[in-house]
Amino acid sequence: MIDIDRQICANAWTSDEAMVNHRELCLQYRGRFSASSDAAGAAAFIEKTLNRYGLTNARREYFEMTAWTRGGKAVLELVEPHRARFPCIALPYSPSCNDEFDVADGGMGHPADLAEIPGGVLGKAVLIDDKNPPAGPHLHRLHKYLNTRHAGASAFLFVQNSPGMLSPTGSLAFNHSGPLDQTIPSVGIPSEIAAELREWARRGTLRIRLTMDNSLARGRDCNVVADLGNPGTSEDIILVCAHYDGHDIAQGAVDNASGTVVVLETARLLAPLTNQLRASLRFVLFGSEEMGLIGSHSLARAMEHDLHRIRFIFNLDCVGSTGRLVMMLQNCPEWLPFFKTHIASLPADVDINTHFVPFSDHFPFVVRGIPASFMVTPGIGDRGWGHTIADTFEKVSQETLMRVSMHTARLIMRTSRLTPWPQSKKSREDIIALLESRHMRPLMEHEGHWDF
Ligand SMILES: [Zn+2]
Repeated sequence: MIDIDRQICANAWTSDEAMVNHRELCLQYRGRFSASSDAAGAAAFIEKTLNRYGLTNARREYFEMTAWTRGGKAVLELVEPHRARFPCIALPYSPSCNDEFDVADGGMGHPADLAEIPGGVLGKAVLIDDKNPPAGPHLHRLHKYLNTRHAGASAFLFVQNSPGMLSPTGSLAFNHSGPLDQTIPSVGIPSEIAAELREWARRGTLRIRLTMDNSLARGRDCNVVADLGNPGTSEDIILVCAHYDGHDIAQGAVDNASGTVVVLETARLLAPLTNQLRASLRFVLFGSEEMGLIGSHSLARAMEHDLHRIRFIFNLDCVGSTGRLVMMLQNCPEWLPFFKTHIASLPADVDINTHFVPFSDHFPFVVRGIPASFMVTPGIGDRGWGHTIADTFEKVSQETLMRVSMHTARLIMRTSRLTPWPQSKKSREDIIALLESRHMRPLMEHEGHWDF
């Protein structure tokens, strides 16, 4: 391994490819938003880059989906007891709106918070924080949206955690399989505006007008896929993936141009070492992750008859912040000894645990029983700049991109050469228990894909 490691490390630290690719994705293709011309341009760029690195069979695999377009500016206007206009942004899949609502404070959007609202939430616009109690449970935006809608609210006002007059974005659907005409008007609002709304609400009746103009259409988007390996030596596959799409409001530099670049960089570092691989590598850059994991669900369905060949998944999502790389082994403790040993042998400063995170592209594969790791550099704070207009290229650490690419490439090589594989077969009951533990059942039932 020492010669292989030397090649990977030297190659990683003597090239500016990661930086150049990152700037290209952020500045040339902006947010690479689902089904947009920027996303199409980014997909072509990624395919060309994978070809240039010497991968085989680089291709774009298309899927149909519901595309959403933001039209003009969303406005939140205070009507009573005072008149004022505030910035806000529509959340993807929100319908258009030109209506007045009474406002209620729904706290963190947990069922108990909503049940405590005086007079209930029926017909109201409800303020919901993107926060959770330290002791849990940890609910995602999508859980909170669903709780609020099911409680009878007529609009969802999603509040940014951190100060800076930033409005958060984020889709209202999770690989939704039906029509989307049941969504309620939903906007992201800055924490400072939420503080003012709460102050007015504390003093008495608070009424707002919400105006926005969004549209739905049938759309088409794609995943970019390419292979590296020795055909005929093994039928085993390691999947190395990231989503290349971001949001229409920003460059999506951390989320997830960073992961896209690291996947491209691992491909570049490993391509000259193809004859050292045992299991082949399939590199996938997913589209439409931000709209609810649409690209990864599509690939998992397309690979239905090949899923048994996928031995492990490396999914890189938000790996551009300074600080340690964290490898979360999606409830696969059987893989812990292997990765702990090899992380120590690199030697590398990588944290490893077995946490399960349902909201990224490994999810459609994990529910099918495939072992996976979610790789992230959390930095400090909650979501940081992610999902805001401030997720821009200069905040991404180029040193981090190079370091994460180097560590990940070395771990991928070791995983490819591993034999035998840890016994990872999860039963149907194991998967149901895992999903229940993260409150995924109501969400998946609502979206029409609780297939258990
Ligand atoms: Zn992401």
